[in-house]
Amino acid sequence: PAYAKENSYYLQKVALAEPPKFSVAADLNDRVSVFRGDITTLEVGAIVNAANASLMGGGGVDGAIHRAAGRELKAECATLNGCATGDAKMTGGHRLPAERVLHTVGPIGEHADKLESCYATCLGLARDAGARSIAFPCISTGVYGYPNKKAAVVAVATVRGFLDRHPDAFDRVIFCLFLSVDVEIYSQLLPIYFPLG
Ligand code: ADP
Repeated sequence: PAYAKENSYYLQKVALAEPPKFSVAADLNDRVSVFRGDITTLEVGAIVNAANASLMGGGGVDGAIHRAAGRELKAECATLNGCATGDAKMTGGHRLPAERVLHTVGPIGEHADKLESCYATCLGLARDAGARSIAFPCISTGVYGYPNKKAAVVAVATVRGFLDRHPDAFDRVIFCLFLSVDVEIYSQLLPIYFPLG
């Protein structure tokens, strides 16, 4: 793999003070996990919403998050003046078990720089807000049409790069996968970007 083992923080086993409150389908190291299921169930510092530019709700994961968070989330989103592609804005979690929501707007179609910016911006905002854990859905791979595998490479590589630059930023980063095609893709990719010691 592209990452030299001797430079890797992830080889150190870091014991979490408490077991994670979400179910972990596959632990690939102590910081990065895959969870298969509904992101609205995760009790984490921040979940990421694949929103649209209006931030006023939509289908897919956006609809699920707004339904679970309640109308207070929509009211908070209405104050944010929307969001540009590749950017992200933070709200509270309202009725969600997650403390915060990072609403990011993925590219429509394959625009790697914008997708990378979504992941990096969410990681930065969550870290700055003090979140110790963050869960991402597969941004842009639904109605926005980004090819699943190419999107997964951007997602995993961007998280890897961020954790390399900020090794103490999070206790856990979760890729929340909804579709079996993504489970297949991530289970091939994650051992490459986050090899087990
Ligand atoms: P986009 O508009 O960015 O493409 P979508 O919501 O259409 O966003 O799809 C993004 C991904 O979120 C897809 O893989 C979809 O299957 C997944 N998804 C849908 N509902 C949920 C949910 N409740 N939790 C996690 N992922 C979800």
